[in-house]
Amino acid sequence: MIHTYDFLKMVLDSVTEHIVVIDKTGSIKFVNRGWITFGRQNNSPVRDDWGGINYLDVCDRSAAMGEELGKKAAEGIRKVISNELSLFYFEYPCNSPEEKRWFMMRITPFQINNEHYYVISHQNITERKLAEEAVANMARIDGLTNIPNRRTFDEFLSSEWKRCARLKQPLSLAIIDIDHFKKLNDRYGHQTGDECLIKIGDLLKSFARRPADLSARYGGEEFAIIMGDTLSEHAAELMNRLLQAVADLKIPNEDSPVRPTVSVSVGLATIVPVAGITEKQLIEAADKLLYTAKKGGRNRVAYIVD
Ligand code: GH3
Ligand code: MG
Ligand code: MG
Repeated sequence: MIHTYDFLKMVLDSVTEHIVVIDKTGSIKFVNRGWITFGRQNNSPVRDDWGGINYLDVCDRSAAMGEELGKKAAEGIRKVISNELSLFYFEYPCNSPEEKRWFMMRITPFQINNEHYYVISHQNITERKLAEEAVANMARIDGLTNIPNRRTFDEFLSSEWKRCARLKQPLSLAIIDIDHFKKLNDRYGHQTGDECLIKIGDLLKSFARRPADLSARYGGEEFAIIMGDTLSEHAAELMNRLLQAVADLKIPNEDSPVRPTVSVSVGLATIVPVAGITEKQLIEAADKLLYTAKKGGRNRVAYIVD
């Protein structure tokens, strides 16, 4: 039994990969049940009536209609057929209206009785991709506040710095530090301190809405907002609105000498990046101004008027 065609067909029909076998011209010689089912569900031209269909033609037709997948598949198959590649593998997103999906396509050759054949296998890899995406996100997002972390901040600042240098646009950076946060922790406990950080993080999201903006947790009870293409007076106006929005949250901090609810201090620096200075200087300038804001009585924005 195990040497029969039926046995091998059963094996191929029971694997979850969608498999199609073509010859050197692209003509389809075999498809497994997975491929047929997938074809039916996704309106593919290769379904039950696959006999006589040329798979390369199918790919070329979809490439001619502007489909990237058809173009890539056809190129890959031809490279394996011409021996330019020994194997072709690629992964691609294929989102249906209801869900995010990814697939992989692999093309491997084999030879029997001097005839060359090519196995095209196709598999849903969404589960793995979603897991990869979650891990990548975890490395970029702060676990407590759910906003970008320091690493994302560094990368974003570096790319905005370069972009603003190219366009000769001002880049503003605000470092925001919660006032007397230690007193809040001491009075209400660390858990309440964490909840306060989450609320401030949430609020900051709404202050960084444009593509050139990013709000991040800079570390501990410090946050930062990067504002590309933004003059210091505009950034200062925005940060003054942030002070008010923090006041409106009315988070108790009764031991704070500033007021009985949480306040923040902001150091705001603006630079048009030019050769010879780096983003490090922008951070240092914002840090220094934060110190000025703290010394000046907290609950304020310190910045340099151009
Ligand atoms: P200032 O107005 O000068 O900024 O005073 P401060 O008390 O806010 O500053 P300080 O640097 O003295 O204290 C910061 C505190 O923030 C100390 C630290 O335990 C607390 N902190 C840092 N990260 C976290 C966190 O993730 N959760 C909580 N609950 N507290 C944190
Ligand atoms: Mg601090
Ligand atoms: Mg503080």
